[in-house]
Amino acid sequence: MFIDEFSFDHPNNQGSGKWNRLVPLAQSEPAFSLLEKQFLKGWKHPKKTKPQVRAIFKILSSEASLKPYHQYRSNPANEQLLFHGTNRCCMLAEDGTRIRLCSLSECFLCGVIRNSFDIRKCGTKNKFRRFGTGIYTTSCSSSKLYSIFDVEADDYALNIERSSRLRVLLVNRVVVGKPYKRRQNAVNLTEPPCGHHSVLGEPGVDLNYEETVVYDNDAIRPAYLIVYGDGVPELHSKMHSLLMALFKTPVAS
Ligand SMILES: [Zn+2]
Repeated sequence: MFIDEFSFDHPNNQGSGKWNRLVPLAQSEPAFSLLEKQFLKGWKHPKKTKPQVRAIFKILSSEASLKPYHQYRSNPANEQLLFHGTNRCCMLAEDGTRIRLCSLSECFLCGVIRNSFDIRKCGTKNKFRRFGTGIYTTSCSSSKLYSIFDVEADDYALNIERSSRLRVLLVNRVVVGKPYKRRQNAVNLTEPPCGHHSVLGEPGVDLNYEETVVYDNDAIRPAYLIVYGDGVPELHSKMHSLLMALFKTPVAS
């Protein structure tokens, strides 16, 4: 019988459960270097220096949550690992000991790790939805990403908890199937165009960075959490950026 490697029930995940969903990957594990490579390759923002990957956690889920994903995946396939940035209001994954999800309703990160994505929350905060009502992911780790929660893949606003020193990004398994490629916005979409399973926004006209949108909750599951950054306190970083912007000159750290 097939048991997903992200399932609580997989033999490698003994001791995991709904209170223990995050498993740190050792740096020696092949998955760590593959994800690190993908993260750094996807860092395309010319003005942001490539950050250091500090840790990667595997995200485990229940069989009940994974089963509908498997059923969906068995048809269109073309599974890809894609990034999604969201609000973090707690100190989850700030270090190896902080692996308990919080229960703050505004902490979307913990919500997604606990219950995966929910299309009904699309546009909750930002009414602008480039490709309509869907779940937004990207191969570009540094891009500005309008997601179901109106957040960016990498942005200082990501951390609501001010003492955070590091940032986090979700890596998701996404069933892309046959994507419909599009360069212009299509804000009224609620499903992919006929004969397709997702929309792939290509850079050029309305986009600067690639985006992949799926329109079914079961087309996506969170798989990994990448923790990255220079370890500088958030507040300090913000002040630093502000001073840089004001004087248009580098300031000493
Ligand atoms: Zn949280």
